[in-house]
Amino acid sequence: MNAEIIAVGSELLLGQIVNSNAQYISKGLADIGVNVFYHTVAGDNEKRLSSVISTANSRSNLLIFTGGLGPTKDDLTKETVAKLFNKELVHDEDSLRYITNYFEQTGREMTENNKKQALVIKGSKVLPNEHGMAPGMAFTEGNITCIMLPGPPSEMKPMFINYAVPYLLSKMEVQTRLYSRVLKFFGIGESILETRLQDLIEKQTNPTIAPLASEHEVTIRLTAAHNDPEEANKLLDQTEAEVVSRASDYFYGYENDTLEKQTIDSLMRRNATVASAESLTGGLFGKVMTDQPGSSSVFKGGIIAYSNELKKNLLNVPESLLKEHGAVSEECAKWMAEHIKKMAKADYGISFTGVAGPEQQEGRPVGTVYIGVSGPQKTKVFDFKLAGTRKSIREKTVKHGMYVLNQLVKEGQ
Ligand code: ATP
Repeated sequence: MNAEIIAVGSELLLGQIVNSNAQYISKGLADIGVNVFYHTVAGDNEKRLSSVISTANSRSNLLIFTGGLGPTKDDLTKETVAKLFNKELVHDEDSLRYITNYFEQTGREMTENNKKQALVIKGSKVLPNEHGMAPGMAFTEGNITCIMLPGPPSEMKPMFINYAVPYLLSKMEVQTRLYSRVLKFFGIGESILETRLQDLIEKQTNPTIAPLASEHEVTIRLTAAHNDPEEANKLLDQTEAEVVSRASDYFYGYENDTLEKQTIDSLMRRNATVASAESLTGGLFGKVMTDQPGSSSVFKGGIIAYSNELKKNLLNVPESLLKEHGAVSEECAKWMAEHIKKMAKADYGISFTGVAGPEQQEGRPVGTVYIGVSGPQKTKVFDFKLAGTRKSIREKTVKHGMYVLNQLVKEGQ
């Protein structure tokens, strides 16, 4: 089946709403192995909608409409589809009863155009609307299947999942489905990873390998098409092993894994705690940690010592150290991590100092970052040269901090 999604509504063309229905339906169709070749948007205008449907008819055999099923005059999807397919509109008794009941129960007056909502294309399968009044419809004529869904996402989504998808599955001969797996990498650039995977990507057919953009990380999506979930899983396992072997040092998890979740899990497993001393990140590490439920058992808290004065007064960083090496230095990061660990009586202390920009500091260029981690065994300082805006340098710094902390905790260092 080659699908075309036709969203109807002038608000979409005016830019007043985003066509999120098309995205939702596309994703749902991909999950059941239906190719989507076109997204089309038409305004509430019969002539232009007719022309869109005729074009869609000539190039697609599954037409999914959203919007324009309502009671008003400019809602004209089913009327236009009926005309083009030479079909009659008839009242659907169940829908009419539902609408009548609604008006009786709420004590509101039912007008003639409310009855219009209960009109359906004769011979079509009526898709119940459990969250609104306009029923949906599905019919197959020759090799063309048409499905009409309401516009409001709260009505469209349950109707699509509960009624449209089962209708489509019943029409499909071999029920090929798509199975996806997301692999997450950190600390390696997207282009470097892509280069390492180039030959695999070039010969890919099933599963496909697609790099996805994600915030300061690299994500690879593998997608296998099969009618047997176990076989699909086997294909995914094989490709995963090949992909991971090309960058095993940087692979850290799957779709629902995050660096912070893994770091917290590692600390929990070791029954260990951490406290932070933050300069350039201004508390972002603490925020990301405490965003995680359950972090209170491992995260003791932290100090934001942005100025040198507070670094001296709260973290006891010696004046001589600041004079000799500066606040953005390996020595300062080491001191901060060790001191916060002692002060908080934690198992690990982590520190962040560096230059987020836009101006350089103490002669250090923007993007210079030192992360200190003091553990039960020793203190290590990692230095990075990060690129990006002030915001992204700070976010990347926290991710690197999570990553190195997790590594050391896992190793018990
Ligand atoms: P109703 O039965 O509520 O009148 P309808 O099927 O006639 O629904 P429309 O009147 O076209 O649908 O749209 C109703 C609302 O649904 C819009 O104002 C908008 O909020 C939402 N909507 C419509 N189309 C889309 C779309 N493609 N993506 C996201 N939201 C949409």
